[in-house]
Amino acid sequence: MLRNVKRPADAIDEQRLWRRQMELARFGARPDGGVNRQALSAEDIAARRQLIAWATARGFACSVDSIGNLFVRRAGRNPDAAPVLTGSHLDSQPAGGKFDGAYGVMAGLEALEALEDLGISTERPIELVAWCNEEGGRFPPGAMGSAAYGGAQKLDDLLAIRDWEGVTVEAALRTTLAATPEAPLRTLGGKPAAYVEAHIEQGPLLEAARTTIGVVTGIQGAQWYHVEVIGSEAHAGTAPLKTRRDALKAAMAMIAALEQLMADETDTVRFTVGRFDVTPNSTNTVPGRVLFTIDFRHPDAAVLARLGGAIEGVCRAHARGCEVHVSKTLDMSPIRFDAAIQQRIDFTAGELGLSRMAIASGAFHDAKYMNPLCPSGMIFVPCEKGISHNPVENATAGDLAAGARVLVEVLLQLAGQ
Ligand SMILES: [Zn+2]
Repeated sequence: MLRNVKRPADAIDEQRLWRRQMELARFGARPDGGVNRQALSAEDIAARRQLIAWATARGFACSVDSIGNLFVRRAGRNPDAAPVLTGSHLDSQPAGGKFDGAYGVMAGLEALEALEDLGISTERPIELVAWCNEEGGRFPPGAMGSAAYGGAQKLDDLLAIRDWEGVTVEAALRTTLAATPEAPLRTLGGKPAAYVEAHIEQGPLLEAARTTIGVVTGIQGAQWYHVEVIGSEAHAGTAPLKTRRDALKAAMAMIAALEQLMADETDTVRFTVGRFDVTPNSTNTVPGRVLFTIDFRHPDAAVLARLGGAIEGVCRAHARGCEVHVSKTLDMSPIRFDAAIQQRIDFTAGELGLSRMAIASGAFHDAKYMNPLCPSGMIFVPCEKGISHNPVENATAGDLAAGARVLVEVLLQLAGQ
């Protein structure tokens, strides 16, 4: 870099970015300061219209695909070159915050604005995307838009999904697209040159380490299990302890042993028993049946496989005469992001004098579905106390701008100056 030549990071406008985060948070604003902007709702449509207004004011072209992913394109010198893609999602949880998803979209827009402000042209086009329905609260499952774009889910299956009121994705999309005529329909899918997503961490690690930039190594994998323990019901006053087949006590022994199995000095394993049903759930009857769930997560596929493979044996070893049925209900492999993208993020943050650390994402993100398509990565910034999916979700203007500075530099490198 020549001296006195402004680099794009210098053109990131902290105030403009913060102001837009706050303006966007008005769409679906809750009285408690949070945001309720569920996918394809009136609030989501209003946020989309605002994004289109900001984009067209700078001359960027907008388009939308058949699952409702909204794109903003800053042209490159080579119109035939595959675009570099950045973005996140505008939809929120019903009791969500101002930053989850919205930040990645606003940071991407700020990056396009910074390049525009400096008159920097790129070889490849840069496209900003607001993925449709990442949260999945209204129309489960989440990450619908990126899954359809990446080919992991079939469009027709997704269009038929209904919300609690019976409205289909197809009908809600029709209303949404009719309200955004400035964004013409484009073909679903594509092959971007690269994908980089900025997001708040949604966890406490960056804040605890007083670190500004998280270089995301990947998204941890998860396995879910149902464990059914069948004993026999008996009279609490008459059945001797030695002859009982008490499903609750067996389940408790299993969970204690699973806790041992999952013990991890580095505190990387996430192990949760979140559901526990006792039958008949009566004060004076020995429990005859217990159903409990296991959710455990880890970034390393080998660790996931080892721990997952040990679960059934541990449960059987502590069955205390009861019957045990263990079934796996979810198996999501961990994602590892492209090493070169991680290096770029790490190096660029260093160049900009920002503290940074490697971090695995505990939550799922749209980047999961981009990773098989093209070199992909994520930039995390801290959020207050690690709280997310909560109206009190918060972040500082300075940290958000720092993430956007790294983002714009990395996008420029990938798009070629
Ligand atoms: Zn998100």
